[in-house]
Amino acid sequence: MSFIKFLGTAGARFVVMRQLRASGGLWLSVGKTNLYIDPGPGALVRCLNSKPRLEPSTLDGILLTHKHLDHSGDINVMIEAMTEGGFKKRGLLFAPRDALQEDPVVLKYVMGYVEKVEVLKENSEYRIGDIRFSTAQKHRHGVETYGINFKISPHTVSLVTDTKFFPELSDLYRGEILVVHVVRLKPIGEGPIDHLSVEDVKTIIKKTKPKLTILTHFGMTMIKAKPWIVAAEIEKELGSKVIAASDGMRLDLEEV
Ligand SMILES: [Zn+2]
Repeated sequence: MSFIKFLGTAGARFVVMRQLRASGGLWLSVGKTNLYIDPGPGALVRCLNSKPRLEPSTLDGILLTHKHLDHSGDINVMIEAMTEGGFKKRGLLFAPRDALQEDPVVLKYVMGYVEKVEVLKENSEYRIGDIRFSTAQKHRHGVETYGINFKISPHTVSLVTDTKFFPELSDLYRGEILVVHVVRLKPIGEGPIDHLSVEDVKTIIKKTKPKLTILTHFGMTMIKAKPWIVAAEIEKELGSKVIAASDGMRLDLEEV
């Protein structure tokens, strides 16, 4: 029973600050392995309140795609929960170097709770239990950021986390299931906002032709446009299955 549970679908500051959507990130279970991805603000509460309850002490590891607060707000408390208050040294922490060293988001004393820290680097392979994954090239996103290709069965999954669009992007994530952070409805051009828009996502889908695309991590313009309507429009235009994640949504990988 392998699944992805969306414990939050909020992206960027305003949706997170106002909690228009939850911002807990993702829980990925494959075989016997549980990995938490991007525990943003409220991750712990979302785990404990989810039905059925997700027990942080069953986590094998936590992965941070980057250190922005909407991805890392609950990282310390989630490590503490994974390690049963720090009394059981266990679990792996995967994070880019700049989340751990310069202006770190993981407190020093909390870092001591985990069994092992693995630094995420460009184009590298990692493994945690039944989950194998690799990073692609660094994203364009202000802080050190990596998307992930999960080589898991029964379907490979690509997670395209925050980034400004760049031409190579459409070639990097070829998972059968594409989970993409689409913060913006419309592109903003050459601005300070390093996020994908709906147009960028269409460009990626046209190139990689995933079996299923899941939109998540919505900013204000996406929320206003109603993500499920945006998803339906993309699906109609491209003839490729697209859904919008909702808070608490569970995707059973066997059923895709
Ligand atoms: Zn970010």
